[in-house]
Amino acid sequence: MTRPENERPALVTGSSRGLGRATAIELAARGHPLVVHYVRSEGPAAETVQEIEAAGGRAVAVGADVADAEGCDRLLRAATEAFGPVAVLVNNAGVTADGLAMRMKDDAWQRVLDTNLTGAFRLSRGVLRAMLKARWGRIVNLSSVVARMGNAGQANYVASKAGLIGLTKALAREVSGRGVTVNAVAPGFIESDMTDALPDELKASYLTQIPAGRFGTPHDVAAMVAFLAGDEAAYVTGQTLSVDGGLTMQ
Ligand code: NDP
Repeated sequence: MTRPENERPALVTGSSRGLGRATAIELAARGHPLVVHYVRSEGPAAETVQEIEAAGGRAVAVGADVADAEGCDRLLRAATEAFGPVAVLVNNAGVTADGLAMRMKDDAWQRVLDTNLTGAFRLSRGVLRAMLKARWGRIVNLSSVVARMGNAGQANYVASKAGLIGLTKALAREVSGRGVTVNAVAPGFIESDMTDALPDELKASYLTQIPAGRFGTPHDVAAMVAFLAGDEAAYVTGQTLSVDGGLTMQ
């Protein structure tokens, strides 16, 4: 039997700040019990929980490194103990370690792939059995416009984000027949810690290429993820939805 939409436990990785925090708050506002997740930012994760609880929602914070297998297992165990099997998984945790490919060290390559792509695979594998049994589930992977466009100095990051699009399609083909959808969201330039670090000239040059004439907000992305997580998106699967103010058009 499927659970009422508002009782389905959701896990948003990397929800201590940025897009993940906005997504956790949006899903909680729609009634999902929320597993807020972080790796280092315990305080900000606790603030996300407080914000959800202050608005009348339910949430717990769990710390775990998604770049390693043990961290993923521990995260899923804690999530299940808190609210039951995860019904909505948002693979949002992500890192960059930029540099030109010619000079990129193996460590920078591996760390980004392990966190952004392998972590998403392991967590998806870990939640699928229960989703298939329940005949309802949602997996949303945070990709990026750079997966489609490429970006100099980000071979590791772009490969991880393009890998997520492939993972999304392959999983969707395996599970969509049983009520589980798998989609990706490809944000463009969104205001967050990750983009705050970029030089002002680079930001100004990006702005000229965005038809909407502004950078995105974390809420712009959260709204798309929340749509994909809901019942109304039941017939959307294997897709990558751009939230980029028109930066890329297909
Ligand atoms: P932030 O850098 O603001 O936040 C990253 C989040 O990921 C934090 O919660 C962080 O936890 C968590 N995290 C990082 N490494 C690990 C790890 N090894 N294990 C567990 N958690 C980890 O990122 P954004 O909010 O900007 O981006 C969120 C997602 O959206 C990322 O996947 C990013 O690639 C993607 N994206 C962002 C865009 C943008 O413009 N901002 C554009 C396109 C895609 P902690 O706080 O504990 O460090």
